[in-house]
Amino acid sequence: MKIEKSEYLFQKSQRIVPGGVHSPVRAFRGVGGVPRFIQSASGVELEDVDGNRYIDFCMSWGPLIFGHQEPEVLEAVQMALKRGWSYGTVEPYSLELAELMVQILPWLEKVRFVNSGTEAVMAVLRVARAATGRKKIVKFDGCYHGHVDSMLVRAGSGLAEMASPDSAGVSARVAEETLVVPLNDLNQLEKVFQIHGQDIAAVIVEPIPANNGLLLQKRNFLQDVARIARSHGSLVIFDEVITGFRVALGGMAERAGIEPDLATYGKVIGGGFPVGAYGGRADLMDWVAPQGPVYQAGTLSANPVAMTAGAAMLKKLKRENPYSRLEKDTEQLADALELLGKKLEFPMRVQRFASLFWIIFGKVETEDDTIRSQLETPTAHKSIYAKIFHALLDRGIYLAPSAYEVSFLSTAHRECDTQKLVELMGEAILEQR
Ligand SMILES: *Cc1c(COP(=O)(O)O)cnc(C)c1O
Repeated sequence: MKIEKSEYLFQKSQRIVPGGVHSPVRAFRGVGGVPRFIQSASGVELEDVDGNRYIDFCMSWGPLIFGHQEPEVLEAVQMALKRGWSYGTVEPYSLELAELMVQILPWLEKVRFVNSGTEAVMAVLRVARAATGRKKIVKFDGCYHGHVDSMLVRAGSGLAEMASPDSAGVSARVAEETLVVPLNDLNQLEKVFQIHGQDIAAVIVEPIPANNGLLLQKRNFLQDVARIARSHGSLVIFDEVITGFRVALGGMAERAGIEPDLATYGKVIGGGFPVGAYGGRADLMDWVAPQGPVYQAGTLSANPVAMTAGAAMLKKLKRENPYSRLEKDTEQLADALELLGKKLEFPMRVQRFASLFWIIFGKVETEDDTIRSQLETPTAHKSIYAKIFHALLDRGIYLAPSAYEVSFLSTAHRECDTQKLVELMGEAILEQR
């Protein structure tokens, strides 16, 4: 495969952009090699600047549940552009998206739009602190909540729950306000609440942890988290940036039958445009300015083009409800891949949920064959994934370029696309011998 132009552009980019990228994982550091500069995308296909084509299973990291250039979204955006693309005023387009959201999510009484998932998390934590008058936030090790300072932390080395910064530039003081507990260990969560209960404003959780692999939790995990938090007067925040409108129309809250106090959204609700949102109980959201004293604002918030794209997306999702079909297709793909692994005697597991899937290489050595926390990921996984990723990339398959990121199916993927992945996975595996 010829990648001269990507190589040239990556070199050029590295001179004027940190690491050559605007978001770290795009640099392919986890899998090595040269990231492909994509010049266009349509349906399930990416085309790079050298003219190579790939079947995309990354789908812009989740937003594109209907694939690239979905015609209804495209048309809505083209019409929106003709009306001008930013007014800095109130406008009807965000109202339509807000109405769709509160209709679909009955417990979401009020919502505020921002420009990214990160921004939504940042604001929602501020609201939780203000409304409860408490300082600390509990997060789970292995859950990602964007690059908010207080969320860029890991479990400290001393007292298990005391967090320390996980990024340079995050102050220890900020990290101290976050308590980190492991996934799949409710005793630890109970303990942290027993010690710090009165100081804990909220627990924030990815209702399906999907940013360090797909870490499937046991059945009553979310119920237990909510019960423990609420028994201490703390709020429950679902970070549904990846799961919202992706795992069901009502996201993971609907699937789990839990009403979070507050939730964050992003990815799918922008249809591929920069949109984030946070919302929940009206009494909590009324803390937000100008109604309340919690300041939060944005020059480009509720951008009319992005809002129109989001509304087109949600209307189509509501009308077509593609979730059971997507889930069935993902199940078939996962089963076919696992069967292939067995046939070729190559250790490969596929953990899936709705249309998210995570391919794991190496021997999984947990009780029930399921990886529920990062620590359980086989040590061989990362290096095998890197090799398989490149073997597939050379054959025209674009998986998530990281061993710890999930891949996605969209409604644009047809059976021939998933079959192609299975077939080429066979070749990629044989090449490892
Ligand atoms: C992607 C993601 C974020 C961050 O959203 P950005 O739009 O990248 O800032 C936050 N939380 C979760 C669960 C996510 O998947």
